[in-house]
Amino acid sequence: MARDNDDVEDEDESDEDVEYVLFQGALNGKEANLEDNRKLAAAGLRPAKELVSEALADKCDSFRFEPKGPRYVASFSVDGVRRAGPRFPVKLGNAIVQILKLLAGLDPGVRDKKQQGAIKAEYREIKFEITVKAIPGKEGESLSVIFRATKIKRIVPDDIGIPDRICKLIRGQAANGNGVVLIVGPPESGLTTTAHCAMRSIDTYRFESFILGEMGNREILNVSVFEPDPDHTLDDTIERIHRNDGKVIYFTDLEDPAVAKTICDNAGRICVVAEMTAPDAPRGVAKFVEMVGDPALVASQLKAVVTSKLIRKLCRKCREAFRPTGRLLAQLGLPEDTATLYRAAAPPDEEDLEEGEEPEVCRACDGVGFRGRAAIFEMVEVTDGMKEVIAAGADPVAIKNKVREEKQLTMQMDALRLVADGTTGLEELQRAFRPPQRKKKPARRRRP
Ligand SMILES: [Zn+2]
Repeated sequence: MARDNDDVEDEDESDEDVEYVLFQGALNGKEANLEDNRKLAAAGLRPAKELVSEALADKCDSFRFEPKGPRYVASFSVDGVRRAGPRFPVKLGNAIVQILKLLAGLDPGVRDKKQQGAIKAEYREIKFEITVKAIPGKEGESLSVIFRATKIKRIVPDDIGIPDRICKLIRGQAANGNGVVLIVGPPESGLTTTAHCAMRSIDTYRFESFILGEMGNREILNVSVFEPDPDHTLDDTIERIHRNDGKVIYFTDLEDPAVAKTICDNAGRICVVAEMTAPDAPRGVAKFVEMVGDPALVASQLKAVVTSKLIRKLCRKCREAFRPTGRLLAQLGLPEDTATLYRAAAPPDEEDLEEGEEPEVCRACDGVGFRGRAAIFEMVEVTDGMKEVIAAGADPVAIKNKVREEKQLTMQMDALRLVADGTTGLEELQRAFRPPQRKKKPARRRRP
């Protein structure tokens, strides 16, 4: 049933399956004045709702909406892959842009400046924050729209499947009450989820843990945010946590070199888990060394750097099993008795269809072949050999080589675990590890 509690009534009730997003005001508290913008609302509100609802129904993380010649074109990003969304005539597209700006607390009158706002919204009983960025351009304004569910399910380590090897190392450090473990990744890469899962692998009932930094609206069971005394230095604060029997401190955002140095200075008596942005684990080590400014100190206190990447899971409804050849298994380094691997279903062959016959499309994944994402991990462990590489200046290439030489956990290695158990396929790994390309072809997409 259409759910719509705005002034604009649904005149057409034919699309009974459609459930519309509810817009619940701008995040900045600025009320969208639909009265004074009646014409705009009449033209743009309903199609804007349709567009946003379609994006949410397709499980989009974000979408772009931009003018291209005579049309406004939406492109959806689903599980990190772009695909084509609906198109609108320019005039209507422009009305959608302006109404979304208005709803996000922005000024629809301003069209030549970058603006950013956000809408509170609800869709299928899930609350979302919808960030709306307006970007002026030659052909007209475009929008970048990002969705974020505000109520996030409490995650336990198994949910994203942190490998045992990583859980064990973190648990060990917590029990010892020393050392630094960094969780690194590019921004918006699931970094915070990985860090929280890392924290959850610690038995926080036995090893008292505290958080230093912002948590947003997230929480970790049995770990509380420590409120530092504003007159205290970070050294004083760590001393206080230590005296309160604190064994572990989780820094939610490590970017300050002075903080990095203080963490290292104190890592002999407390275990630190810290979240830091870096493109990958080896460059995370290098960045940390540069921040601390003392390679030998880092070599003695850093225990591990963990990073993760999200890959798409094969749709379990329509994935296809195949028997791998011995040669393929040998190439991949999988056990030779592996009988079955999986791949995404091949698209239906249009030529086989009778006239007027619609191709059958998997309803579980909308014919995409993938549904949901899983994480794969990499961990640089600071072994005796790795200590030498770090003390010698922590060159990322040298770190990478050492990881391989010592058979430490790499992403490719971890990904094979998910190929072997049928969670994902080899094509997805090729896509995930391919260097970024300039232009991506939108994925095949069909409505059931
Ligand atoms: Zn499917």
